[in-house]
Amino acid sequence: MLGERVAKLNLTVCDICGDRSKDASPYTIKSNDGAVSVDLCDDDAKPIEDLLAKIRSRPVVRRPNRIPVATMEQIERLKQR
Ligand SMILES: [Zn+2]
Repeated sequence: MLGERVAKLNLTVCDICGDRSKDASPYTIKSNDGAVSVDLCDDDAKPIEDLLAKIRSRPVVRRPNRIPVATMEQIERLKQR
């Protein structure tokens, strides 16, 4: 029974290459189009891992405090005028 064998292995199979010899990890990718859940082996996840490494190693950019931020109270006060 193929179904039983798959269940006993309990391996996550990559959704891209379907290679059962490689263990896959679940990823959820969110974009403006929505979220996609996918299981990826190390090879297929590499572009994502590279991107994550790039994002994590990026220097923190501090925005100059030029844009005035209005509090909700200030906005409400303006509306009442
Ligand atoms: Zn793969």
